[in-house]
Amino acid sequence: MAEKSYYDILGVSKDASAEEIKKAYKRVAMKNHPDRNPGNKEAEEKFKEAAEAYDVLRDPDKRSRYDQFGKQGVNGQGGFGGGGFGGFQDINDIFSAFGDIFGGGGGFGFGGGRSRGPQRYQGGDLRVKVRLNLKDILNGTTKKFKIKKKITCPDCHGNGCANGESPKTCPDCHGQGFTIKQAQSIFGIMQQQVPCQRCHGEGTIIDHVCPKCKGEGVINGEDIVEIKIPAGVQEGMVLTVPNRGHAARHNGIPGDIQVLIEEEQSDVFIRDANDLIYNLLLTVSQASLGDTIEIPTLEGPVRVNIKPGTQPGTRMRLKGKGLPQVNGNGYSYGKGDIIINISVYIPENLSKEENSAFQNMKDSPNMMASDKVKKKIFDSFRTYFQ
Ligand SMILES: [Zn+2]
Ligand SMILES: [Zn+2]
Repeated sequence: MAEKSYYDILGVSKDASAEEIKKAYKRVAMKNHPDRNPGNKEAEEKFKEAAEAYDVLRDPDKRSRYDQFGKQGVNGQGGFGGGGFGGFQDINDIFSAFGDIFGGGGGFGFGGGRSRGPQRYQGGDLRVKVRLNLKDILNGTTKKFKIKKKITCPDCHGNGCANGESPKTCPDCHGQGFTIKQAQSIFGIMQQQVPCQRCHGEGTIIDHVCPKCKGEGVINGEDIVEIKIPAGVQEGMVLTVPNRGHAARHNGIPGDIQVLIEEEQSDVFIRDANDLIYNLLLTVSQASLGDTIEIPTLEGPVRVNIKPGTQPGTRMRLKGKGLPQVNGNGYSYGKGDIIINISVYIPENLSKEENSAFQNMKDSPNMMASDKVKKKIFDSFRTYFQ
């Protein structure tokens, strides 16, 4: 009997995208979820089969080995041991491996795992964008947001009960949130935890429902959130503010706020990690005669001496005038530099006088680089490009 391919198990084509595979797995897994099919051996088998298929197809490396060599290709490589019934010996392994797939929406039931005790609801995450300029990034900043979100019901303080009452222990499950059922499985009779139908796994029931939140414990509301942004962040970084997202039903665990950092482009500096590059354009005379020039920094201008005979391509560093580093804990340290990159402007239109001045200088031996200078410039290019 020909074995079904992993693609057939999930009902996707061989060129399905990662996203399609994930969706297909979720569909098959939800359909055959043991909580929905208590004691159904066929569903359990399909549930495990789908997990095995997904475990391989979601991993580009395993997937390509599977495409080339079939199941042989993924056996014994952190994949599946001894043929037959896959590597997930215990359904709980599947939940711990792919629990996040069943998540989303902060519900209960197919909410990510087997109930081992009363369920607590999980509030959803929120995402905000914050736009920063380089000065904000230099010093760190605090931004205030007014956020629309689920908040704890003020009338019942989140427990969902009217008249100041408290939820009661569920008489069906005695507060456990689940009941035990005997189920037939390929390993024989198994004891399965099934979420309590009466309390939906919470372990408590409500006699009189709070009219304001209809027993949910949360209502639509607003919150003012102050978000502290550490110095040194970069475009695309995401900061997490724990527990300030949507409130969860019945005083469950609140979600987080994800803060996406956007960086305004500066018209003075180019950012290179923690360094700032400043392009200084000298005139021919400044480069030849030398000068003192004001260079902008994020903390105000500084004066810089340009030596006579400064070549284009010269780089100077203003130590510690760049941006700090930030680590994963939001701790900022050290600082990068401002790198001054020197170019020289060659005039495009000359007046008669300027033209004759250049004509006069044209054949002067000092206008041409000596071999020694040529070598010096060549060497500095070499170090720049290597
Ligand atoms: Zn309420
Ligand atoms: Zn119950």
